Amino acid sequence: MQTDERGALADQYGVLIDGTERASSSGETIDVFDPATGDQLTTVAAATEGDVNEAVDVAGDGFEEWRGYTPAKRCRILNDVARAIRDDHERFARIETLENGKPISEARGQVTRAARHFEYYGGLADKVEGESIPLDDDHVDYTIREPLGVTGHIVPWNVPIYLFARSVAPALAAGNAAVIKPAEETPIGAIELTKLLHENGVPEAAVNVVPGDGAEAGAALSGNPDIGTITFTGSTVTGREVGKAAIENLTEPHLELGGKSPLVVYEDGDLDVAVEETVKGIFATNTGQVCSASSRVVVHEDASDEYVEKLVSAVEDLSIGPGLDDHDVGPLASASHMEKVAEYLDVGREEVGDPVTGGRVLDRDGYYVEPTVFADVPQDARILQEEVFGPVLTVSTFADEAEAIQRANDVDYGLVAGVITTDMGRAHRFARDVDAGQIYVNEWFAGGNETPFGGFKDSGVGRENGTQAIHNYTQIKNVCLDISN
Ligand code: NAD
Repeated sequence: MQTDERGALADQYGVLIDGTERASSSGETIDVFDPATGDQLTTVAAATEGDVNEAVDVAGDGFEEWRGYTPAKRCRILNDVARAIRDDHERFARIETLENGKPISEARGQVTRAARHFEYYGGLADKVEGESIPLDDDHVDYTIREPLGVTGHIVPWNVPIYLFARSVAPALAAGNAAVIKPAEETPIGAIELTKLLHENGVPEAAVNVVPGDGAEAGAALSGNPDIGTITFTGSTVTGREVGKAAIENLTEPHLELGGKSPLVVYEDGDLDVAVEETVKGIFATNTGQVCSASSRVVVHEDASDEYVEKLVSAVEDLSIGPGLDDHDVGPLASASHMEKVAEYLDVGREEVGDPVTGGRVLDRDGYYVEPTVFADVPQDARILQEEVFGPVLTVSTFADEAEAIQRANDVDYGLVAGVITTDMGRAHRFARDVDAGQIYVNEWFAGGNETPFGGFKDSGVGRENGTQAIHNYTQIKNVCLDISN
């Protein structure tokens, strides 16, 4: 068991309901492992359906208290939370690296983003405004944006602290109370962040955490009839189930799902930039475990040989190792996920032959897979169509702009897409014609907390981030008065 010196982890974690951390009602626990070594880090309670229902009930009380605060007070508290995250930055970064495996410098960046999210939505908490609607001289009409009540948040394991903040911060800013179900692999950040929210003035009943199994605790949360909305971030398969449960409850879900996002490299583009952005987009960020990873490169046939040569050289320079040692590429997040990625390496070999670099699971403790590039991949290959969610890239070629767009669009997903070109007409045509929620030009992962994020097609429903995300957590009430006498 790892202890304090590795990041102030407790020996065990519980469900966190109404500010009290306790065992689950069944006494069941889930072991949490360090992906860098495969050693056990700690254990966490596995919430039952009863625990989840209790958390939702408690959050109902928390909602009454929190919505009673003035917007200005909620604004100050959420800004205090942002400051407290920054003050405790290194501890949260170590937690993220310990439970997820990512390089510590990347974890620091994600914790900064989480703090920024509380700051950003804290700044909006007193700006959730309605409208005045002109009707005629005899009426006054206006709208009020009201909170939804208790909001549910189901979070995946790839960026656990930031993705908690991404939906919980706007939900709280709008006056809601929250129940969070973190992923089995990465529950600690959610529990510690919730304690910090309580310490900084958010009522204990207003934020509750129910760690546990997705099929039990996650399904209990998404199926609970007393939640006003569910924000789910995770796989498309699970997202469909969560969406069905939400519609059954007649609530609107926000589904942030998977991707298989294309980076199109034109022959007029800067190939060094293309290589740098590819490496960042699929290998050197969370070992490719990113929904918006640049997992498919589509390169002009005249530039393909030079691009692949430069890419292979850059990939082979990447260091692989434990996140706390801050290598370029960390381990995958779990043993089961490493097995899934390894299966895709076999699929790729069967479909297109040996990769041009990488392709091995490393023979060492922890969950390490080499950054891998498959070249000349046909459009219908599974390795090109399906989300691997690891350090595995496909490269295919195109002859003209029409084929580039056709290949970019020819998958079920539509989360993000990028283009490398110096021709701005081409860049705008790409932005117009490609079906994706975000378009990046000459830089992967462009934009930030302030820019709307979400998917077309099978990549999801709704948008996170930016000013409009606060509206995910409100409903409009129209008020009309007859003032004729
Ligand atoms: P997953 O769907 O297996 O799990 C996500 C969460 O859902 C976990 O907390 C899990 O416990 C829970 N869950 C599992 N079964 C459930 C059920 N039946 N009902 C309710 N909840 C359930 O996804 P994952 O493999 O953990 O995460 C990786 C996926 O997440 C990838 O597809 C990735 O692209 C996607 N993702 C999307 C975004 C985005 O913003 N679009 C961000 C990060 C990750």
